[in-house]
Amino acid sequence: MNLGRLSPKTQNYISEVLDRRSRDGIFCLEDCHEILEHGRAVGSDAVYGIGCYFIAEYYWRDHVEDKTMRYLTESTKCFLKEGMGEFLTRSYNMMGSVSDNQDNRVVALNYFYIGLQYAEKYGLTYERGMIDFNIGFVLFRMKQYREAVSHYESSIRFYSQAEDNFYRSYNIVLGMQHCGSCYLKLGMRQEAFRLLEEIDRMREAEPDRNYPEVNIVAFRAECAAARGERQDVLKYVNALLDIIRPEQGIGEEADNLESLVEILFQLRELECMDELYRVLDEKGLENTPMLFMSLYPCRSQSLLQRGKMEEYIRHTRMFFEVYEKDRQNHRQGTARIMELQEELRSVEKERARMSADNRRLEALALYDSMTKLANRIKINEHMTQKFEEAQKKGMLLGVELLDIDRFKSFNDTYGHLAGDECIMSVADVLRGVEDDRIFCGRYGGDEFVVIYSGMSLEEIRCAAETIQNRIRELKIPHLKKEQGDIVTVSQGIFAHIPDKDSREWDFNSMADNMLYQAKGAGRNCFRLGTE
Ligand code: GH3
Ligand code: MG
Repeated sequence: MNLGRLSPKTQNYISEVLDRRSRDGIFCLEDCHEILEHGRAVGSDAVYGIGCYFIAEYYWRDHVEDKTMRYLTESTKCFLKEGMGEFLTRSYNMMGSVSDNQDNRVVALNYFYIGLQYAEKYGLTYERGMIDFNIGFVLFRMKQYREAVSHYESSIRFYSQAEDNFYRSYNIVLGMQHCGSCYLKLGMRQEAFRLLEEIDRMREAEPDRNYPEVNIVAFRAECAAARGERQDVLKYVNALLDIIRPEQGIGEEADNLESLVEILFQLRELECMDELYRVLDEKGLENTPMLFMSLYPCRSQSLLQRGKMEEYIRHTRMFFEVYEKDRQNHRQGTARIMELQEELRSVEKERARMSADNRRLEALALYDSMTKLANRIKINEHMTQKFEEAQKKGMLLGVELLDIDRFKSFNDTYGHLAGDECIMSVADVLRGVEDDRIFCGRYGGDEFVVIYSGMSLEEIRCAAETIQNRIRELKIPHLKKEQGDIVTVSQGIFAHIPDKDSREWDFNSMADNMLYQAKGAGRNCFRLGTE
């Protein structure tokens, strides 16, 4: 997980706690709480959010969905506020998984899609692989096989692009297997067989890596059924039973045994099917409601067909208990999720408000309050950017200094307020000529800057003339000066293609020289220098 935005000390601290939290693969809740408390103590939303996130993860592993959701709400708020992309993406993914587990598929898809947007925004390939897979899995169970295929394919692609880790090949193969099962449902057998071959090639090339064995064997059985090879189907189902028999409980891999059971039912291999149910029952199938319910239809039908009424009634009763419990969970889950969405909406609003504040602060920092033209900081920033661009591309760059003629006496004659208005009128003229090649700013006092980029010398001359004429056309009376009786300006322009020895500052000082010459030549004119 990327902690890069935190101070090195905090990063170390968190990594240390995270290393500590897992003892023999069992996570410790206290350690996660320690991070949360630390965040609270130092007033860091980021650290507090990370603490909440890991607590949520702890509860998620423990199947305590209500608490998972509560801590995720808390962490998501922090990550939104702090713009922490990776944690945000993973939080949405986890909320999607919780909702999916509670059989709230539409809500789950909603969370997954939000997570996908963040993953895209922050360029997170591994997380995209993760979420695309989860979306594929929801769509698969909604029997939207075509859409599921496109998500599984993109999951495989993103996982393959992501940095390698212990789970990567596992996830890629899992995606291939699920994608292959979809192909079989769509009747696209060749595509499915091709994927199985690819999985075998991957395992051959790197046999020591971690692979989803149960899924692979189940997929082999499905492919064998599609080829009509009954004996192979039985062989693979037995191999699958050999893998899951010694395992503790039902692993996540057993999630998609529905297709396999359907195949056995169709092939009338009921003994084999019964053995699969028996092994799963032993491991507490009724405690994994989704799997239990997905495997119920074939089971109940086969019991009915064989007249095993007692067993049929027992299982049907169990089905309704599981179903009812699941429905209640579902209802609570939905209520909780609606609450959560409301909370998150208010955080989003807060964030929008904050970024509006930031924009206001930025405007204060970079723009002149009176004329709203760029100030010295912004001018320098723009100048550096354009200078470097012109230097790199060998383009002409023009810098103009513009100064109001005899402005001191204007102030003295008409008053300071009229002076301000005059400055604003000149600024309005400049704003009127601004476009993506002409940039204007106010240096201070009655002095302005115009930066011309990507223009020919003739175009620069023409633009400077336009500015001069438009200011004359304002016809602001100014009687106390030697030439004419309206406000005029003098402009000094330096235009040049910067070479590798040129310095940015040369442009300013040359433009200043030119302005001095214009003033010396009697004002109300411009001087353009190129060397
Ligand atoms: P020149 O033609 O040589 O430029 O003569 P000038 O009188 O314009 O000389 P200079 O540019 O040095 O004078 C600038 C004057 O602008 C000085 C100052 O009183 C006035 N000034 C600076 N900032 C402001 C402002 O924000 N509002 C007003 N009204 N006057 C300002
Ligand atoms: Mg002046």
